[in-house]
Amino acid sequence: MKTIFVTGGAGYIGSICVEQLLNEGYEVAVFDNLSEGHRKAVDPRAEFFQGNLLDRTVLRHAMGEVKPDAVMHFAANALVGESMQNPSKYFRNNVANGINLLDVAVENGVQKFVFSSTCATFGVPERVPIDESLPQNPINPYGESKLLFEKILRWYDECHGLKYVALRYFNAAGATGKFGEDHVIETHLIPNVLKVALGQRESVDILGTDYPTPDGTCIRDYIHVLDLAQAHILALKSETSERYNLGTGGGTSVKEVIAACREITGKDIPALEKPRRVGDPPRLIAASEKIRAGLGWQPKFQDIRAIVESAWAWHVKNPGGYGN
Ligand code: UDP
Repeated sequence: MKTIFVTGGAGYIGSICVEQLLNEGYEVAVFDNLSEGHRKAVDPRAEFFQGNLLDRTVLRHAMGEVKPDAVMHFAANALVGESMQNPSKYFRNNVANGINLLDVAVENGVQKFVFSSTCATFGVPERVPIDESLPQNPINPYGESKLLFEKILRWYDECHGLKYVALRYFNAAGATGKFGEDHVIETHLIPNVLKVALGQRESVDILGTDYPTPDGTCIRDYIHVLDLAQAHILALKSETSERYNLGTGGGTSVKEVIAACREITGKDIPALEKPRRVGDPPRLIAASEKIRAGLGWQPKFQDIRAIVESAWAWHVKNPGGYGN
């Protein structure tokens, strides 16, 4: 595996995986339509193709030129709320357009496909930590679109021999020195809290304080993007097709995240207690045993403060995100 074709390489997680692949000596081509991503988030060492997965001709041209050994597929729409308003967008972009990518990958003799899946494929889990044997019952079109694509991958392996690794992300967070999180619509907790610390917002909302958790707020498994990137690089080396849950196995509540942000930034960060957001499960924590054993993956960041620290450093350096 030497040359990697990365869709969505201008997005938050994709851009950091591209940077790490390049640091480890891989050749990287990024394919991104820049609908959510940023041209400045594409590492200058990577080749860049601006294109839409909808367009097989453009995709064929790009992949024919690159002749990759592997594809990493980050490009997707990933807003739960939007998926409830506009399921068509999610099934078209995350499923139908992904099939174009699979077909062109098969045509080009690609050997390995690494797919960005999500813990949202599990819906409201019957227990935590969530291991790979739990049933997947998504509760929104976003989660369903990712689950459908996992199922499609299985058949491309059986029918075409395309090996795949599906990584079900828990809550990606943090930044590197160069690349960080800048979404057009920001719904994620940590960047929203840090925007208050930067003085760009007056307060952050705590969305629900009556959950069955010790402090009443939701618990999530925050994983540093660098640890996430490492899992992708290890996945390239795996010979069998697998699906892994990708989180640290630890949980942090919304109030604990805000406390960590106050500590790291030294700012007050006013927080307002608000009603629950629809569709938020109280607790999402990964069982990470399978990926640790299967890929030899080990997270370097286990402390929420270290994750917040890296995100804060990036936001301080780039207060306007990539717009600056
Ligand atoms: N959350 C919050 N305020 C915000 C954004 C998120 O209280 O401004 C909560 C949200 O309800 C969830 C947790 O923080 O319980 C993590 O949300 P996020 O959107 O970051 O990730 P998700 O787990 O939904 O993928």
